[in-house]
Amino acid sequence: MAATDVKFPSALDGRTIEEERLHRKQQLAGAFRLFGKFGFDEGVAGHITARDPEHPDMFWVNPFGRSFKQMRVSDLILVNHEGTVVDGDAPVNQAAFAIHSQVHAARPDVIAAAHSHSIYGKSWSALGRLLDPITQDSCAFYEDHALFDDFTGVVLDTEEGKRIGVALGEGKAVILRNHGLLTVGESVAEAAWWFITMERTCQAQLLAEAAGTPVLIDAECAAATARQVGSHAAGWFSFQPLWDVITAEQPDLFD
Ligand SMILES: [Zn+2]
Repeated sequence: MAATDVKFPSALDGRTIEEERLHRKQQLAGAFRLFGKFGFDEGVAGHITARDPEHPDMFWVNPFGRSFKQMRVSDLILVNHEGTVVDGDAPVNQAAFAIHSQVHAARPDVIAAAHSHSIYGKSWSALGRLLDPITQDSCAFYEDHALFDDFTGVVLDTEEGKRIGVALGEGKAVILRNHGLLTVGESVAEAAWWFITMERTCQAQLLAEAAGTPVLIDAECAAATARQVGSHAAGWFSFQPLWDVITAEQPDLFD
């Protein structure tokens, strides 16, 4: 199926198009502030995107070179399916376009996608392994994440973005070997939460394996726990206290 055949969702949850667009941009700015607060930035690397509710083949993204820690709603740029910035006067990171345009095209259910070069995510990615169900939290990813085992340098080509989309499949996350993590969600809140908890899940497994041999949660229990902590609703809900904190601490994100 070609990307152009995809019917994109536009669930508005009672909001007008304009209200939904502003909502997604505010959530995006808040997610960037949280990524900055948690130290997920590495120079100019990393991007979180939110599909536009009116033009589902376009997405909002951070301008290339602006710190996550200073991101404001007014900084966000809108990029079309050809990589052209159609709202905003800042450049887009070519890697953000190459990866996120293809992930959004491959997954019509996905409203948001998050990727950064966070330290534990990229450390874990170097092992070329999926995460194991070793903690309650790690079960959110049980049989719901994939490995993209094909590092070829900075992703500048949409063909590689397409292959990342294929590797992601129907899951909530993909580990890009020798690179870092990428998560998706039906809301910005959900995609951001999966990224935050996946980064910490990588940290937990690295710590546990450095200290000994972790005991695996058995398959039946891991699957049952995944249904509890790994649902779209659980992802969205888990983000809410972080949103409350960041908007209270850094209200200029709404500017
Ligand atoms: Zn990257």
